[in-house]
Amino acid sequence: MIETKAGSFTPEPRLLINGELVDAVSGRQFDNINPATEEVLGQVADAGHEDMARAIAAARRAFDETEWSTNHVLRQRCLEQLQEAIEAEREDMRAELVAEAGTPIMVTYSAQLDSPMEDAFRWPAKNIDQFPWERQLPDGEAFGIHSRRLVVKEPQGVVGAIIPWNFPFEVTANKLGPILATGNTVIVKPAPDTPWNATRLGRLVAERTDIPAGVVNVVSSSDHLVGEDLTLDPRVDLISFTGSTVTGKRIMEKGAATLKRVFLELGGKSAMIVCDDADFAAVLPAAGAACMHAGQGCALQTRILLPRSRYAEGAETLQAIMENIPYGDPTDPGIVQGPQVSAKQRDRVMSYIQKGIAEGANLLVGGRRPAQFDKGFFVEPTLFTDVDNSMTIAQEEIFGPVLAVIAYDDDDDAIRIANDSSYGLSGGVFSASGDRAMAIARRIRTGSISVNGGIWYGADGPYGGYKTSGIGRQNGTEGFETYLETKLVGLAG
Ligand code: NAD
Repeated sequence: MIETKAGSFTPEPRLLINGELVDAVSGRQFDNINPATEEVLGQVADAGHEDMARAIAAARRAFDETEWSTNHVLRQRCLEQLQEAIEAEREDMRAELVAEAGTPIMVTYSAQLDSPMEDAFRWPAKNIDQFPWERQLPDGEAFGIHSRRLVVKEPQGVVGAIIPWNFPFEVTANKLGPILATGNTVIVKPAPDTPWNATRLGRLVAERTDIPAGVVNVVSSSDHLVGEDLTLDPRVDLISFTGSTVTGKRIMEKGAATLKRVFLELGGKSAMIVCDDADFAAVLPAAGAACMHAGQGCALQTRILLPRSRYAEGAETLQAIMENIPYGDPTDPGIVQGPQVSAKQRDRVMSYIQKGIAEGANLLVGGRRPAQFDKGFFVEPTLFTDVDNSMTIAQEEIFGPVLAVIAYDDDDDAIRIANDSSYGLSGGVFSASGDRAMAIARRIRTGSISVNGGIWYGADGPYGGYKTSGIGRQNGTEGFETYLETKLVGLAG
């Protein structure tokens, strides 16, 4: 058992393959590091290509040879069991996520754990009853044959689910729920930085549910190329990936040879448009959310668009907000910003900050590794003003606590700047007029958008990206469609 200030937990070091919790064939393990302290928390199985091959074979067999793909009642029962199982280990999972992801405990009470846990498996289980698995088309009369015509929705088959390290539980649960509800089998490949959340789910599947052996497999590995096997293997039908756009493109390339279906949820560089009629004191604190979990969220609004007429006032308000972001020890309940997940990510963020300075943006707050911590991958909450939208810090996803403040002339200009991005994941608009804010929101080319602080998140809400932010949707009815094939049947007579 591991004791931490955020609680205690016992991590699961084993893989789940074909219904059994096993070590890697090689016996190898790798270290799981606490990003706040740089200490080794413990170990997890380090799967190799042979373990991945076994997991793929098991998932294929479970899809082809068990009743999983056709038995709605069994699937519903298993998802309800899984929901109960995660709720029973909520507090262990909370402490574990704080330890391995460095996420502030405060964030686990919302996006990191409790919000997705609410309905992660419950909603997909319920939707099994409501989803239109079949629909009748008008009868056909072709080539002298009268036919009844039916559209039937069927699972894709074997899914490779590749998970990032920033919101491990949220992403894994939002993949597993619809993947399983629609009758697919799956190999979950967690990020090497946060393997325990996935191996815990693997143990819960094995010990607390009737999910048949092989339907869910969990394969942790320190080697990204072991995950890449999922994209190359012809026995895998679909890759469901959340992570960087660079890796998303590589997955498509590697998957092309076997014409893999892909669901990709990738990066973002979302804009928050603050209209000239907005109450700055009331709305600008929302911009501080970009530092939540050290800015390691794909949908965070990291470009703040202020009207030129009130730019100085807005910049001053934002300066005060960013100077007061509580950051540091993620086990402290008052903290919203913990460390970056790894030294590599910390260095990446620092290099973006240097680029911002070099390209002429004005560094108003932060920008350094904080001197008060001698351990941990921390970066100060950082605010750049006088940012031009063409600068690297306005175009590329930094994945750190870095805000770029950009001036605009009028609503059309704000919309143009917001849309002048290769990404299209999310965003926000604030105006004293709901109608004006909605009119702007409708013209923003992103998969989700918050209007006057509204929350769009939910297991029933289809989420995903436009442009290079992704392909397809997770959650909601559209999320079911992601994992389904469509069969057209003509029945003579
Ligand atoms: P990544 O996209 O490379 O890693 C995410 C997952 O993909 C991990 O499980 C990793 O093992 C796996 N992976 C990596 N290469 C693979 C390959 N060739 N085939 C199959 N799977 C592969 O992300 P990263 O390198 O950890 O982080 C780099 C940047 O990615 C971040 O700074 C951030 O900008 C972005 N990112 C975005 C999200 C998001 O939610 N949109 C999440 C994580 C990282």
